[in-house]
Amino acid sequence: MQEKFIEIKNLNKTYRGKIKALKNVSLDIYQGEVLALIGLNGAGKSTLVKILLQLVIPDSGEILFNTKLFDRSGIKNSIAYLPELFRIPPDMKAYTFLKYMGELSGLNKSEIQKKIIDISHTLQLEKWLNKPAKKFSKGMMLKLGIAQTLLDDYLLYVLDEPTEGLDPIARRTVRDIIKSLQDKGCTFIINSHMLSEIELVADRFAIIHQGEIINIGKVNELLRGKPVYEVVANVNPNLTQWQFYEYNSLWKCSVSTPEELNLLLNDLNNSSVKVHNISMNTLNLEDLFLQNIFARDVDNNKN
Ligand code: ATP
Repeated sequence: MQEKFIEIKNLNKTYRGKIKALKNVSLDIYQGEVLALIGLNGAGKSTLVKILLQLVIPDSGEILFNTKLFDRSGIKNSIAYLPELFRIPPDMKAYTFLKYMGELSGLNKSEIQKKIIDISHTLQLEKWLNKPAKKFSKGMMLKLGIAQTLLDDYLLYVLDEPTEGLDPIARRTVRDIIKSLQDKGCTFIINSHMLSEIELVADRFAIIHQGEIINIGKVNELLRGKPVYEVVANVNPNLTQWQFYEYNSLWKCSVSTPEELNLLLNDLNNSSVKVHNISMNTLNLEDLFLQNIFARDVDNNKN
Protein backbone atom coordinates (compact mmCIF):
# COMPACT_ATOMS: atom_id res chain seq x y z
CA MET A 1 0.00 0.00 0.00
CA GLN A 2 1.40 3.39 -0.99
CA GLU A 3 1.76 6.05 1.65
CA LYS A 4 -0.60 8.98 1.77
CA PHE A 5 1.36 12.07 0.79
CA ILE A 6 -1.39 14.68 0.70
CA GLU A 7 -4.72 14.57 2.50
CA ILE A 8 -7.24 17.11 1.34
CA LYS A 9 -10.12 17.38 3.77
CA ASN A 10 -13.47 19.07 3.24
CA LEU A 11 -12.28 22.02 1.18
CA ASN A 12 -14.81 24.73 0.37
CA LYS A 13 -14.23 27.80 -1.73
CA THR A 14 -16.73 30.42 -2.82
CA TYR A 15 -15.59 33.37 -4.93
CA ARG A 16 -17.22 36.75 -4.42
CA GLY A 17 -19.72 35.25 -2.00
CA LYS A 18 -21.64 33.43 -4.74
CA ILE A 19 -19.51 31.32 -7.10
CA LYS A 20 -19.14 27.94 -5.37
CA ALA A 21 -15.90 26.75 -6.93
CA LEU A 22 -15.33 23.84 -4.49
CA LYS A 23 -17.90 22.03 -2.38
CA ASN A 24 -16.59 19.87 0.43
CA VAL A 25 -13.76 18.36 -1.59
CA SER A 26 -11.81 15.55 0.08
CA LEU A 27 -9.06 13.62 -1.69
CA ASP A 28 -5.99 11.58 -0.74
CA ILE A 29 -2.91 11.70 -2.95
CA TYR A 30 -0.29 8.97 -2.62
CA GLN A 31 3.49 9.23 -2.66
CA GLY A 32 4.88 8.63 -6.16
CA GLU A 33 1.59 8.60 -8.05
CA VAL A 34 0.44 10.61 -11.05
CA LEU A 35 -3.05 11.88 -10.33
CA ALA A 36 -5.06 13.41 -13.18
CA LEU A 37 -7.65 16.00 -12.21
CA ILE A 38 -10.21 16.12 -14.97
CA GLY A 39 -13.32 18.24 -15.36
CA LEU A 40 -15.16 20.60 -17.66
CA ASN A 41 -14.20 24.27 -17.96
CA GLY A 42 -14.95 25.98 -14.68
CA ALA A 43 -15.26 22.68 -12.75
CA GLY A 44 -12.87 23.82 -10.01
CA LYS A 45 -9.59 22.10 -10.97
CA SER A 46 -7.41 25.21 -10.96
CA THR A 47 -8.99 26.42 -7.73
CA LEU A 48 -8.10 23.12 -6.09
CA VAL A 49 -4.46 23.24 -7.17
CA LYS A 50 -4.17 26.93 -6.31
CA ILE A 51 -5.37 26.14 -2.79
CA LEU A 52 -2.72 23.40 -2.60
CA LEU A 53 -0.15 26.00 -3.58
CA GLN A 54 -1.54 28.59 -1.15
CA LEU A 55 -2.30 30.95 -4.00
CA VAL A 56 -5.98 30.84 -3.07
CA ILE A 57 -7.24 30.65 0.51
CA PRO A 58 -10.11 28.21 1.09
CA ASP A 59 -13.17 29.20 3.15
CA SER A 60 -12.88 25.99 5.16
CA GLY A 61 -11.15 22.62 5.14
CA GLU A 62 -7.52 21.63 5.54
CA ILE A 63 -4.62 20.05 3.70
CA LEU A 64 -2.05 17.76 5.29
CA PHE A 65 1.32 16.94 3.70
CA ASN A 66 2.89 13.87 5.23
CA THR A 67 0.39 14.21 8.10
CA LYS A 68 1.45 17.80 8.89
CA LEU A 69 -0.67 20.87 8.22
CA PHE A 70 0.46 22.53 5.00
CA ASP A 71 1.81 25.75 6.47
CA ARG A 72 3.84 23.86 9.05
CA SER A 73 5.15 21.15 6.75
CA GLY A 74 7.77 23.34 5.04
CA ILE A 75 6.89 21.69 1.73
CA LYS A 76 6.22 24.88 -0.21
CA ASN A 77 9.80 24.95 -1.54
CA SER A 78 9.45 21.37 -2.72
CA ILE A 79 6.62 22.01 -5.14
CA ALA A 80 7.08 22.70 -8.85
CA TYR A 81 4.18 24.50 -10.52
CA LEU A 82 3.28 24.94 -14.15
CA PRO A 83 0.39 27.42 -14.19
CA GLU A 84 -2.35 27.32 -16.77
CA LEU A 85 -1.55 29.70 -19.69
CA PHE A 86 2.08 30.10 -18.68
CA ARG A 87 3.58 33.40 -19.91
CA ILE A 88 6.68 35.52 -19.28
CA PRO A 89 7.26 39.21 -20.19
CA PRO A 90 7.44 39.44 -24.01
CA ASP A 91 10.91 41.02 -24.14
CA MET A 92 12.48 38.61 -21.67
CA LYS A 93 14.81 35.99 -23.16
CA ALA A 94 14.22 32.35 -22.24
CA TYR A 95 17.72 32.04 -20.81
CA THR A 96 17.30 35.13 -18.60
CA PHE A 97 14.02 33.76 -17.28
CA LEU A 98 15.39 30.29 -16.50
CA LYS A 99 18.48 31.80 -14.83
CA TYR A 100 16.24 34.01 -12.71
CA MET A 101 14.05 31.06 -11.70
CA GLY A 102 17.17 29.04 -10.85
CA GLU A 103 18.40 31.87 -8.62
CA LEU A 104 15.01 32.05 -6.90
CA SER A 105 15.32 28.31 -6.21
CA GLY A 106 18.64 28.97 -4.49
CA LEU A 107 20.83 27.15 -7.04
CA ASN A 108 24.38 28.36 -7.63
CA LYS A 109 25.61 29.73 -10.97
CA SER A 110 27.22 26.56 -12.25
CA GLU A 111 24.24 24.39 -11.24
CA ILE A 112 21.92 26.79 -13.06
CA GLN A 113 24.08 26.78 -16.18
CA LYS A 114 24.27 22.97 -16.24
CA LYS A 115 20.54 22.54 -15.63
CA ILE A 116 19.58 25.03 -18.35
CA ILE A 117 21.78 23.22 -20.87
CA ASP A 118 20.39 19.79 -19.92
CA ILE A 119 16.75 20.82 -19.84
CA SER A 120 16.86 22.85 -23.03
CA HIS A 121 18.49 19.88 -24.77
CA THR A 122 15.77 17.49 -23.52
CA LEU A 123 12.99 19.86 -24.55
CA GLN A 124 14.74 21.00 -27.76
CA LEU A 125 14.77 24.60 -26.67
CA GLU A 126 18.51 25.22 -27.23
CA LYS A 127 18.05 27.40 -30.30
CA TRP A 128 15.50 29.53 -28.49
CA LEU A 129 17.37 30.28 -25.29
CA ASN A 130 18.57 33.67 -26.50
CA LYS A 131 15.34 34.72 -28.14
CA PRO A 132 12.73 36.92 -26.46
CA ALA A 133 9.45 35.34 -25.42
CA LYS A 134 7.47 37.34 -28.00
CA LYS A 135 9.05 35.19 -30.75
CA PHE A 136 7.87 31.97 -29.11
CA SER A 137 5.08 29.83 -30.49
CA LYS A 138 2.41 28.50 -28.11
CA GLY A 139 4.18 25.14 -27.81
CA MET A 140 7.59 26.72 -27.19
CA MET A 141 6.15 28.89 -24.44
CA LEU A 142 4.72 25.79 -22.82
CA LYS A 143 8.08 24.03 -23.11
CA LEU A 144 9.65 26.99 -21.32
CA GLY A 145 7.01 26.67 -18.58
CA ILE A 146 7.85 22.99 -18.24
CA ALA A 147 11.58 23.78 -18.25
CA GLN A 148 11.23 26.03 -15.19
CA THR A 149 9.64 23.15 -13.24
CA LEU A 150 12.73 21.02 -13.93
CA LEU A 151 15.42 23.38 -12.65
CA ASP A 152 15.54 21.81 -9.20
CA ASP A 153 14.47 18.55 -7.54
CA TYR A 154 10.95 18.70 -6.16
CA LEU A 155 8.72 16.29 -4.26
CA LEU A 156 5.48 17.40 -5.89
CA TYR A 157 4.82 18.59 -9.43
CA VAL A 158 1.57 20.43 -10.06
CA LEU A 159 1.07 20.79 -13.78
CA ASP A 160 -1.90 22.67 -15.19
CA GLU A 161 -2.35 21.58 -18.83
CA PRO A 162 1.23 20.41 -19.51
CA THR A 163 0.65 19.16 -23.06
CA GLU A 164 -2.01 21.31 -24.70
CA GLY A 165 -0.41 22.83 -27.79
CA LEU A 166 2.65 20.55 -27.80
CA ASP A 167 3.52 18.54 -30.90
CA PRO A 168 3.48 14.71 -30.60
CA ILE A 169 7.25 14.47 -30.11
CA ALA A 170 7.21 17.04 -27.33
CA ARG A 171 4.23 15.31 -25.71
CA ARG A 172 6.17 12.06 -25.64
CA THR A 173 9.17 13.89 -24.15
CA VAL A 174 6.96 15.29 -21.40
CA ARG A 175 5.56 11.82 -20.69
CA ASP A 176 9.10 10.43 -20.47
CA ILE A 177 10.13 13.21 -18.08
CA ILE A 178 7.12 12.53 -15.86
CA LYS A 179 7.81 8.78 -15.82
CA SER A 180 11.49 9.22 -14.95
CA LEU A 181 10.69 11.63 -12.10
CA GLN A 182 7.98 9.28 -10.89
CA ASP A 183 10.56 6.47 -10.80
CA LYS A 184 12.52 8.65 -8.38
CA GLY A 185 9.47 8.86 -6.09
CA CYS A 186 8.07 12.24 -7.19
CA THR A 187 4.32 12.83 -7.05
CA PHE A 188 2.31 14.55 -9.79
CA ILE A 189 -1.02 16.32 -9.92
CA ILE A 190 -1.94 17.08 -13.50
CA ASN A 191 -4.93 19.09 -14.70
CA SER A 192 -5.76 18.29 -18.27
CA HIS A 193 -8.49 18.27 -20.87
CA MET A 194 -6.42 16.00 -23.13
CA LEU A 195 -7.85 12.77 -21.81
CA SER A 196 -6.31 10.44 -24.37
CA GLU A 197 -2.93 11.93 -23.47
CA ILE A 198 -3.39 11.91 -19.70
CA GLU A 199 -4.54 8.30 -19.89
CA LEU A 200 -1.01 7.36 -21.00
CA VAL A 201 0.67 8.77 -17.95
CA ALA A 202 -1.75 8.92 -15.01
CA ASP A 203 -2.10 6.21 -12.36
CA ARG A 204 -5.40 7.55 -11.02
CA PHE A 205 -7.97 10.07 -12.15
CA ALA A 206 -10.34 12.24 -10.13
CA ILE A 207 -13.33 13.69 -11.94
CA ILE A 208 -14.37 17.07 -10.63
CA HIS A 209 -17.74 18.48 -11.64
CA GLN A 210 -19.30 21.73 -10.48
CA GLY A 211 -16.91 21.87 -7.55
CA GLU A 212 -17.41 18.29 -6.38
CA ILE A 213 -15.34 15.15 -6.86
CA ILE A 214 -17.75 12.71 -8.49
CA ASN A 215 -15.45 9.78 -9.25
CA ILE A 216 -11.95 8.62 -8.41
CA GLY A 217 -10.40 5.53 -9.95
CA LYS A 218 -7.32 3.77 -11.26
CA VAL A 219 -6.60 4.31 -14.95
CA ASN A 220 -5.15 0.81 -15.26
CA GLU A 221 -8.29 -0.90 -14.03
CA LEU A 222 -10.38 1.29 -16.27
CA LEU A 223 -8.41 0.48 -19.42
CA ARG A 224 -8.13 -3.22 -18.72
CA GLY A 225 -11.78 -3.38 -17.72
CA LYS A 226 -14.41 -5.39 -19.52
CA PRO A 227 -15.33 -4.31 -23.03
CA VAL A 228 -18.20 -1.96 -23.66
CA TYR A 229 -20.52 -1.77 -26.62
CA GLU A 230 -20.93 1.70 -28.01
CA VAL A 231 -24.11 2.48 -29.86
CA VAL A 232 -24.15 5.69 -31.87
CA ALA A 233 -27.24 7.46 -33.21
CA ASN A 234 -27.50 10.52 -35.47
CA VAL A 235 -30.12 12.18 -33.30
CA ASN A 236 -30.81 12.32 -29.59
CA PRO A 237 -33.03 9.24 -29.01
CA ASN A 238 -34.51 10.87 -25.86
CA LEU A 239 -34.83 7.51 -24.14
CA THR A 240 -34.73 8.31 -20.44
CA GLN A 241 -33.82 4.74 -19.49
CA TRP A 242 -30.54 4.98 -21.47
CA GLN A 243 -27.71 7.43 -20.90
CA PHE A 244 -27.00 8.94 -24.29
CA TYR A 245 -24.50 11.81 -24.45
CA GLU A 246 -23.56 14.09 -27.31
CA TYR A 247 -20.23 13.48 -28.95
CA ASN A 248 -19.08 15.27 -32.13
CA SER A 249 -22.71 15.96 -33.09
CA LEU A 250 -23.63 12.29 -32.67
CA TRP A 251 -25.35 10.62 -29.71
CA LYS A 252 -23.50 7.83 -27.96
CA CYS A 253 -24.52 5.29 -25.35
CA SER A 254 -22.27 2.62 -23.82
CA VAL A 255 -23.51 -0.66 -22.37
CA SER A 256 -21.47 -3.51 -20.99
CA THR A 257 -23.35 -6.76 -21.71
CA PRO A 258 -24.84 -8.34 -24.86
CA GLU A 259 -28.22 -8.47 -23.04
CA GLU A 260 -28.17 -4.69 -22.48
CA LEU A 261 -27.09 -4.19 -26.07
CA ASN A 262 -30.11 -6.13 -27.33
CA LEU A 263 -32.49 -4.23 -25.06
CA LEU A 264 -31.05 -0.92 -26.20
CA LEU A 265 -31.31 -1.86 -29.88
CA ASN A 266 -34.91 -2.95 -29.32
CA ASP A 267 -35.76 0.37 -27.66
CA LEU A 268 -34.12 2.31 -30.49
CA ASN A 269 -35.97 0.26 -33.06
CA ASN A 270 -39.30 0.76 -31.26
CA SER A 271 -38.64 4.51 -31.25
CA SER A 272 -37.68 4.44 -34.96
CA VAL A 273 -34.21 5.83 -34.18
CA LYS A 274 -31.66 4.72 -36.73
CA VAL A 275 -28.38 3.33 -35.43
CA HIS A 276 -25.40 5.08 -37.01
CA ASN A 277 -22.73 2.72 -35.71
CA ILE A 278 -22.04 0.01 -33.13
CA SER A 279 -18.55 -0.78 -31.90
CA MET A 280 -16.98 -2.83 -29.14
CA ASN A 281 -14.32 -1.08 -27.12
CA THR A 282 -12.71 -1.16 -23.77
CA LEU A 283 -13.74 1.94 -21.87
CA ASN A 284 -11.41 4.91 -22.15
CA LEU A 285 -11.06 7.89 -19.88
CA GLU A 286 -12.99 10.19 -22.19
CA ASP A 287 -16.00 7.85 -22.32
CA LEU A 288 -15.97 7.37 -18.58
CA PHE A 289 -15.68 11.12 -18.03
CA LEU A 290 -18.60 11.94 -20.32
CA GLN A 291 -20.74 9.20 -18.78
CA ASN A 292 -20.02 10.46 -15.26
CA ILE A 293 -20.77 14.07 -16.13
CA PHE A 294 -23.95 13.09 -17.93
CA ALA A 295 -25.16 10.83 -15.08
CA ARG A 296 -24.49 13.59 -12.51
CA ASP A 297 -26.38 16.19 -14.56
CA VAL A 298 -29.34 13.80 -14.95
CA ASP A 299 -29.34 13.24 -11.14
CA ASN A 300 -29.12 16.98 -10.48
CA ASN A 301 -32.01 17.68 -12.84
CA LYS A 302 -34.15 15.07 -11.08
CA ASN A 303 -33.56 16.71 -7.64
P1 ATP B 1 -10.79 25.40 -16.74
O1 ATP B 1 -10.73 23.97 -17.17
O2 ATP B 1 -11.66 26.22 -17.63
O3 ATP B 1 -9.45 26.01 -16.49
P2 ATP B 1 -11.22 24.90 -13.89
O4 ATP B 1 -11.80 23.56 -13.68
O5 ATP B 1 -9.78 25.07 -13.64
O6 ATP B 1 -11.61 25.43 -15.33
P3 ATP B 1 -11.61 27.06 -11.97
O7 ATP B 1 -10.69 28.02 -12.67
O8 ATP B 1 -11.16 26.46 -10.69
O9 ATP B 1 -12.09 25.90 -12.95
O10 ATP B 1 -12.99 27.83 -11.73
C1 ATP B 1 -14.03 27.29 -10.94
C2 ATP B 1 -15.13 28.35 -10.83
O11 ATP B 1 -14.65 29.46 -10.08
C3 ATP B 1 -15.57 28.92 -12.18
O12 ATP B 1 -16.95 29.19 -12.09
C4 ATP B 1 -14.78 30.20 -12.30
O13 ATP B 1 -15.47 31.15 -13.09
C5 ATP B 1 -14.70 30.65 -10.85
N1 ATP B 1 -13.48 31.42 -10.55
C6 ATP B 1 -12.20 30.97 -10.66
N2 ATP B 1 -11.34 31.93 -10.24
C7 ATP B 1 -12.09 32.99 -9.87
C8 ATP B 1 -11.80 34.28 -9.35
N3 ATP B 1 -10.56 34.67 -9.10
N4 ATP B 1 -12.84 35.12 -9.09
C9 ATP B 1 -14.12 34.73 -9.30
N5 ATP B 1 -14.45 33.51 -9.79
C10 ATP B 1 -13.48 32.66 -10.07
